[in-house]
Amino acid sequence: MRAMILNAVRSPLVPVELPVPKPGNTEVLVRVEACGVCRTDLHLVDGELPDIPVPIIPGHEVVGEIVKAGADASLEPGMRVGIPWLGWTCGDCVYCRADAENLCEHARFTGYLLDGGYCEYTVADYRYCIPVHSESNPEELAPLLCAGLIGYRCLKIADSLCRNNEKIGLFGFGAAAHILAQIIVYRGGQFFAFTRPGDQDAQQFAYRLGATWAGDSDQIPAAALDCAIIFAPAGHLVPLALKSVRKGGAVICGGIHMSDIPSFPYASLWGERHISSVANLTRQDGMEFFSKVRKFPVQTHVHLYQLEEANRALEDLRHGKLKGAAVLRVRD
Ligand SMILES: [Zn+2]
Ligand SMILES: [Zn+2]
Repeated sequence: MRAMILNAVRSPLVPVELPVPKPGNTEVLVRVEACGVCRTDLHLVDGELPDIPVPIIPGHEVVGEIVKAGADASLEPGMRVGIPWLGWTCGDCVYCRADAENLCEHARFTGYLLDGGYCEYTVADYRYCIPVHSESNPEELAPLLCAGLIGYRCLKIADSLCRNNEKIGLFGFGAAAHILAQIIVYRGGQFFAFTRPGDQDAQQFAYRLGATWAGDSDQIPAAALDCAIIFAPAGHLVPLALKSVRKGGAVICGGIHMSDIPSFPYASLWGERHISSVANLTRQDGMEFFSKVRKFPVQTHVHLYQLEEANRALEDLRHGKLKGAAVLRVRD
């Protein structure tokens, strides 16, 4: 099978021919149809995540069809599934036992610690696969597997921290924000899009999706926000976001990696404002999110690349060239 593999960090992915993997007892073999390209993949290639077990196949927004199931894997061949970031948890650590498997001490993540979806066939533990609608186009479903899901978990955490969470700031208007924006509008809220200074294209894109306000990340909108969700990996946005958030509001950091956060006056945090990161996802998040998008199909805006163009997709993401999400089309 064809695959794009990371042989060493801080070097481009390399196209290779590999044998089709064999599913273990609790695994399914999936023929990949499409795989989204996430900012985390860029952190992986750049060596910004700890202990990367190279060689590794990136990709954790995988949509494909089950072609074979292991003896104990109760999913049927022919079924379309999504394979998300959370690939395996121990079920036994203090976090797993406390219903917080997203924080599992021994978790294995797809496309980081387990081979992912930048290839034609992959194996995944069936318990972590998410059944996805077979009538939808796999390229449009792929970004929901991480960009969509992490955005959903950010909103859930923000809702738990601040009451009446209706005016929501989104910092970094890319793959995750453009999906979450639609969910916010659907539930009757308002979103405020903060982009790289001067990025008129991204601001126009936000207005087309129904933004109440769109502007530069160093601007402060007239209305105070209930919460701000930061998807850009830029620590300097945290103090900026705090300035726009009302008392009792929250700033949520949705990325796995962020540059250092500069110091800021305590007065910015005073008034029971919260700052929280959001880490990974639980299987419950996956089920909830996909049942929501079945009722209200969000529209993902995708930029398609061939599997062998994965390096170009990563560079386009790095340089902020994309309105929406980058997706590798693996199967024609
Ligand atoms: Zn665990
Ligand atoms: Zn991701």
